[in-house]
Amino acid sequence: MGELRMSMLVDTFNRAHRDLRVSITDRCNLRCTYCMPPDFSDWLPGDHLLSVDELLLVIEVATEQGIENIRLTGGEPLVRPDVVEIVRRVKALPLAPKVSLTTNALRLTELAQPLADAGLERVNVSLDTLDRERFKTLTFRDRFNDVIAGIEAAQRAGLTPLKVNAVLMRGVNDDEAIPLLRHSVANGWNLRFIEQMPLDAQGSWERAEMISAAEILELLSAEFDLVAVPTRGSAPAEEFTVDGGPMTVGIIASVSKPFCAACDRLRLTADGQIRNCLFARDETDVRATLRDPSITEAERRDRIARLFASSVLAKLPGHGINDPSFIQPDRPMSAIGG
Ligand code: SAM
Ligand code: SF4
Repeated sequence: MGELRMSMLVDTFNRAHRDLRVSITDRCNLRCTYCMPPDFSDWLPGDHLLSVDELLLVIEVATEQGIENIRLTGGEPLVRPDVVEIVRRVKALPLAPKVSLTTNALRLTELAQPLADAGLERVNVSLDTLDRERFKTLTFRDRFNDVIAGIEAAQRAGLTPLKVNAVLMRGVNDDEAIPLLRHSVANGWNLRFIEQMPLDAQGSWERAEMISAAEILELLSAEFDLVAVPTRGSAPAEEFTVDGGPMTVGIIASVSKPFCAACDRLRLTADGQIRNCLFARDETDVRATLRDPSITEAERRDRIARLFASSVLAKLPGHGINDPSFIQPDRPMSAIGG
């Protein structure tokens, strides 16, 4: 069924949208330096976060418009107590999408199996270092062992292929490119390096500090035989087989080699705003429609569908990070949903 479904969310550049990233909370139990400062407290008001029923209605309407993949994210999606219920109910929708989740893995030890039982297909785990002390410095929490245990729990629960996302920072963890890949290959993790983007809450991103995809490739090529895998489609990562395969490594060049022309993603923030790009300056408010007591349920659905359509029609050709006029979005990654 999924293959045959028509996307009604086609933008003015002929990009059909099939992927919706849904942030279910902006809260987090880590403080990764490239994401938020250690004393971050600018959380969304609790009553602005969408309820499970509200999330389900938006996701259901999105599937009716051709969305086939839902990725739950945040903030940290696993700090939301009803995350298993969300997965179970999304998988029970008439046009059930594929559901995956991006997480820091801290709560996976207890949640991997219930999530798999609820129908979750895969997880992406974020991990930037293999060193416990460095993990503490990078995240302001001494939770490295929980991440490793969480990854193992995900593998046991069959949430595979398990992808691990790493952000390299100059002089901080760029000496770990090779060890991270070696460890990933040995443990069956699909490692992907992501270029650091200007999305931190403190606005301290500097282009010169970013380790570019070209640099990452050069670093890794000193140790591994990497061969580009030709098919990329709308996937953001450029994939390479490692030492003849079958394991691969991905490099996501969001800044230095944007993949906007093939973008098929939309985002829903935890407080019910549709964003047509991570770097969008404008948002489309669905929360007001979800909470409007003066309309019927049929009208509500119809309005949500129109809001998706209007957001897609307003989508720009690219994120513009490399334009001189680029301005970092007002919201940090944790509030948009990474
Ligand atoms: N808390 C979950 C996690 O860390 O996986 C999900 C949300 S997090 C915002 C999603 C992804 O965004 C993570 O892989 C994280 O490394 C990445 N990320 C956060 N800030 C970033 C930045 N400034 N540049 C690049 N990636 C970033
Ligand atoms: Fe939390 Fe993920 Fe941001 Fe790290 S990257 S602070 S785990 S939301």
